[in-house]
Amino acid sequence: MPIKTTIKRASGWIYLNSPVGRRQLHGAGLILMLHRVLADDRAAELPHRNELCVGPLAFERLLRWLRQHFDCLPLLDLLQGHGGNRPRVALTFDDGWRDNALHAFPLLAKYQVPASIFLSTDYIGSRQRFWWESLGETLWGSHGEAPRHLLIEQLRRVGRPLPAAYFMNEAPRARSLALARYLQSLKTLAPQALHLLTDACPPESLPQALDWQQVRQLEDSGLISFGPHGASHALLPGLDDRRLEEELLRSHRALLNGCRNPLPVYCYPNGDHDLRVRQRLAAHRYPWALSTRAGLCQDSDDPLALPRIGVSQRNASRPSLLAWRISRGGH
Ligand SMILES: [Zn+2]
Repeated sequence: MPIKTTIKRASGWIYLNSPVGRRQLHGAGLILMLHRVLADDRAAELPHRNELCVGPLAFERLLRWLRQHFDCLPLLDLLQGHGGNRPRVALTFDDGWRDNALHAFPLLAKYQVPASIFLSTDYIGSRQRFWWESLGETLWGSHGEAPRHLLIEQLRRVGRPLPAAYFMNEAPRARSLALARYLQSLKTLAPQALHLLTDACPPESLPQALDWQQVRQLEDSGLISFGPHGASHALLPGLDDRRLEEELLRSHRALLNGCRNPLPVYCYPNGDHDLRVRQRLAAHRYPWALSTRAGLCQDSDDPLALPRIGVSQRNASRPSLLAWRISRGGH
């Protein structure tokens, strides 16, 4: 293990066990942000998946560690200031991936750790796909060579050729890292262009998103709550007034329809928000909203722009690294 990692892990451990760390965490709340729990830790370790995916072994290790050091609360309890003497944490999952039911829930139930899942409601019960997942996996070769080459060609035609590092690296890690950076750069493409590219990818054999029956079953467990994460996952600040209103209403109504008790908490797609978006949410009577800004929740935070700390395969499998990030306010 690199010496830097060892030092980070040691200082993370010291922080959690020191009076200063305990004091800092005591008044605050920690909201963790996850996306997917895959069936396999090796698959989750590749850089192009690492930020959004954790494997089951890493996730279980994280849950055991959280139970040891924190009061694991439902998100709403944390936001309302409930909790005991220990530092408080709430788990959140973005997007509404099917693997949340298949791989995350059994472990959450085993350790009795509550969680909230934020749904991009157009995807629930549909076979519609998220562009970064479809493009990423097709370019990784998960669907075979022919579709991979076709997509490479199409990306070249829209003026976004893949970088040399993607073609030249035989080593899976280096290749995956090049792919991760490239996918990040595609975020600036117009939504319509991203739709067309996603449509050019081969369909998955199984739906990737939860369906409404799964949502209700998870909610009935008493351990999982649901809230909105946009309808189409469009980035809200980029929408005109009419489309912004449509996104907020459609996602709000879908949750009211599909759940018994949806959360009064909005979760911004990609964490993106601005004053206009926050004002519209307030008008729709959402008291809280989650961003992706890294940090601990303090009383002084704008309740419509609450920070979270992201969980990756890397820090879930080494929770003292997560403690190190927490000690630095999420950075
Ligand atoms: Zn998302």
